Amino acid sequence: MSINVLIVDDSGVMRAMILKSMRMGGIPLGEIHQAGNGEEGLAALKEHKVDLVIVDINMPVMNGEEMIDHMHDDPEFQKIPIVVISTEGSEVRQNRLMEKGAVFIQKPFPPKKIRDTLKGILDIGGGK
Ligand SMILES: [Mg+2]
Repeated sequence: MSINVLIVDDSGVMRAMILKSMRMGGIPLGEIHQAGNGEEGLAALKEHKVDLVIVDINMPVMNGEEMIDHMHDDPEFQKIPIVVISTEGSEVRQNRLMEKGAVFIQKPFPPKKIRDTLKGILDIGGGK
């Protein structure tokens, strides 16, 4: 199976780096969608069916935590696995995100970290 992914980050360079890390890690990717803030991310979710959302926290217009809250309020989106990749250093906030079901990866991250994290939460273990 291949994973349709939505990557939400206000930095295009970071989105590209995340994508590259996923490719290098052998994650079987299907459709790839990108958005520059939470509002665009929610719009993309309404348009495309995705299996995974990777989201930054600090973004203009709508930050990642607000986007996650909106996803949780919507039965259509509340079961989609979420990985937060952020420079966010506050443990209080990290814990709050984990309580909301998100997995947290701190920036900067080694490329392998993304693969290891995704293998833990997605059903992609059995060869490709
Ligand atoms: Mg940011």
